Amino acid sequence: MKDLDMLSAILAEIKKYSRIIIHRHQRPDPDAIGSQVGLAEILRTSFPEKEIYQVGGPVEGLDYLAVMDEVTESQYQGALVIVTDTANSDRISDKRYVLGDKLIKIDHHPNDEPYGDLLYVNTGASSCSEIIADFVLQFPDELKFSENAARLLYGGIVGDTGRFLYPATTAHTLRTAAVLMDYGFNANKLNREIDQISMSVARLSGFVNQNLRLDENGAGQVILPSEVLAEYGVVDSETSAIVSVPGKIDQVLAWGIFVQQPEGYYRVRLRSKGPVINELAKRHHGGGHPLASGANAHDLKEVQEIYQEIQRLCQEYRENN
Ligand code: AMP
Repeated sequence: MKDLDMLSAILAEIKKYSRIIIHRHQRPDPDAIGSQVGLAEILRTSFPEKEIYQVGGPVEGLDYLAVMDEVTESQYQGALVIVTDTANSDRISDKRYVLGDKLIKIDHHPNDEPYGDLLYVNTGASSCSEIIADFVLQFPDELKFSENAARLLYGGIVGDTGRFLYPATTAHTLRTAAVLMDYGFNANKLNREIDQISMSVARLSGFVNQNLRLDENGAGQVILPSEVLAEYGVVDSETSAIVSVPGKIDQVLAWGIFVQQPEGYYRVRLRSKGPVINELAKRHHGGGHPLASGANAHDLKEVQEIYQEIQRLCQEYRENN
């Protein structure tokens, strides 16, 4: 099905249902919340007679964007469920998404697991929020932004593009952001909210810079053992703010931040300025975008294996570019 036909089919389903429940992924980031709640707000504005809910686990420090609704299991009966920004069904928060009448996936990650009755995936979009904005712009007679929807989608785009730094940022991304900004929300305040970090995280970024291991091809590694997180008073969900820190360094080409979890294993956050790292992530219980992925390492041995793979990718990239 062509993209526009799929978006029409999704709109037709939305029109059919009187109750729509929208989910997104665990450990949400601004694009997860922005696309989810942005879509919820658009549907509330466009179809005031429908019941629209945004559902999922804790928003982990993103409550300046939105909070979740309480929904009971029985409310899923006869409901349409839409999941935004989530490539794999096991990362959907929460698991009641299966209880609805029909399931729709809307995403911008590689479509590794094509779940749902209808799915729209555009890996060329900077963010899922950009896709939701495009959806509205395709059907301007039926779908409407509100100021808050525009704020949420703009926040999602800013979050996933590193404020328009990453290569997924296109001219279309900037045009879409401009359309959203015209809705009059306080973009400066929102940019500050997304950008600001706590003093503990600022101190941890000092640790990251001091303890970065870097090879001659630009492969970087930072290990954050539980003791270090405790010493700095930082929890796992706050480490999102330091993942981009090594990328500022000119010699760094691709890197992994290995964050030890209370259970002992390591959550791996992989980023790259060139070498494709999502295949590596898939080999270690993860996945994601070509230049921004996540994985898991069982122990320090697997941490080192992953670092060696990053080193190999950087070496190959340097040889071929
Ligand atoms: P993160 O480092 O958690 O910000 O994740 C970066 C990207 O990788 C995001 O687009 C995630 O959707 C994806 N990702 C992270 N962890 C996983 C995982 N365990 N499985 C699949 N994709 C993941």
